[in-house]
Amino acid sequence: MLHTAGPLLTVDVAEKETHTENIDDVLSSFVGGRGVATKLAHDRIPFDADPFGPENSLFFTTGPLQVSNMSFTGRMNCTGVSPLTDGLLSSNAGGFLSRHFGATGYGAVELTGRSDDLLAIHVTDDGIEFEEVPELAGATTSEVGEYMAENHELGDEQLLVSGPAGENRVRFASIMTTEHRAFGRGGLGAVMGAKNVKCVSFAGDSAPDIDIDPIQMDVHREAATADDHPMKSAGTTSVTEYANHVSALPSYYFSELEFEGASDIGGDAVSDKKYKKGTCSQCAFACKLPTKDEETGVETEGPEYETVMAFGSNAGVDDVVSVMKSNDLCDELGMDTISCGDVVSAYLAANDEFGNSDLIHDLVEKIAHREDEGDLLAEGVHRAADELGVEDWTVKGLEFAAHDGRTLNGQGLAFATSNRGADHMYAEFYSKEYPLVSKDEAVDPTGLEGKPPLIVEKENYNAILDSGVVCKFSRDFMTEERLETLLDTDYDELMEIGARVVALERHFNNERGFDREDDTLPYDLPDFERALSEYYEIRGWDDDGTVPEDSGVVSAD
Ligand code: SF4
Repeated sequence: MLHTAGPLLTVDVAEKETHTENIDDVLSSFVGGRGVATKLAHDRIPFDADPFGPENSLFFTTGPLQVSNMSFTGRMNCTGVSPLTDGLLSSNAGGFLSRHFGATGYGAVELTGRSDDLLAIHVTDDGIEFEEVPELAGATTSEVGEYMAENHELGDEQLLVSGPAGENRVRFASIMTTEHRAFGRGGLGAVMGAKNVKCVSFAGDSAPDIDIDPIQMDVHREAATADDHPMKSAGTTSVTEYANHVSALPSYYFSELEFEGASDIGGDAVSDKKYKKGTCSQCAFACKLPTKDEETGVETEGPEYETVMAFGSNAGVDDVVSVMKSNDLCDELGMDTISCGDVVSAYLAANDEFGNSDLIHDLVEKIAHREDEGDLLAEGVHRAADELGVEDWTVKGLEFAAHDGRTLNGQGLAFATSNRGADHMYAEFYSKEYPLVSKDEAVDPTGLEGKPPLIVEKENYNAILDSGVVCKFSRDFMTEERLETLLDTDYDELMEIGARVVALERHFNNERGFDREDDTLPYDLPDFERALSEYYEIRGWDDDGTVPEDSGVVSAD
């Protein structure tokens, strides 16, 4: 089986020390990316770790396909204990960092401890340098980029950055890279901020020599020539109008499922503002969305569909430039646009202020700096809902993505079972329930009959994509057979590894007190409890949502 290569580099930021160790047994059993990081995190982070404590670690990993020339491989993984969900969580970012990371020759990099001084850490194949950077306290993503360009001739695509929100421990702070790309979900930027690490850079010329099957070029060619694919012009926003049409677009803080202004903030509106192609390293699909508004000067990348929901329909905003500005503020300040948009929408609901763009942009700044009401909102919806007097629209403390489960019932169950909380990419089941997105595999969105085994398979499959690492937007190009060929093993073995990754996450979280009571939704779905039990049974877990100690998952390499 193909897997990534290289040792684990542990960077103890408290002692300003590093050491390397051989992790070949983990690499050969878990492929790379999320699989390797989950196994390392499960075995090395104490089950009772404080997310903001020095004992929590961040594991950064790429997969074996990050040395390829194939489209859909410009992504990498970060894993740690989330200050938002309090569980083990992996987040995945695009951009151009993955190749620079791989060029250092490390199979995985662990950040642990807590520094007394604000640090930049420079990781190269020639050694590790610790730099004290007090002048970067409070700096935005682009300010850090400018400093690193001037002082070290480093590009944004070589950097991991914690923005002001990370420094201020906003529970949904992201880790930024390549300016606008984010390890967005779950607040891992706040973990980096709590370690007093402002920036990590990667450079080298020691990428491992991994032989990739020539089929990579077929995938690449098809991605390059799929000119009619809607995502090539409008990216993820191409689904907005359809989601609205089928009543799956959360609006007005989840009180409605359709938004009358959807066409003003959806695919066409965003495409109108797109001024050039945007992509990740090696990817000819190029679904990203560099956008500019000539009149106001607002310039950003995106918004993606999820941001269109969180800062658009869910906030009652029908002005695409306002959503672009919210998006840009979040990227500059280092925050997940979904969680931030949802908690801002909760505030708007509580104060009858839907559609007030000036207030929204003011709140985003205040959240990042924990000023005034921003201090409460920085805690996220789950912790702020009671004080705001609104419903808690989260699963396991993670704010909801779009693709509403009240219409797409399988996605609803998938939000509940996800170890990460209410995130759409964990099972990405919505793609099966939107026939326009995935014609071949479409299922009826109504009801849960027959869906638990499909959700288990999608969760396992996505764990492998996240380990490869392959972008999930490869879905119209990456068949099971191609994945088998690329990773040089059979599909059953890949699914088994995917299941072990999901079970390790679950076991870690069980040890922190998570069980069936946490696999819940803020709305009722018919047949939900039976379907949930069926899901556990397929996984071989107990009916209380826990992994049995004798399952073999915990001790297996
Ligand atoms: S499909 Fe889009 S998000 Fe995925 S790697 Fe390519 S450009 Fe990046």
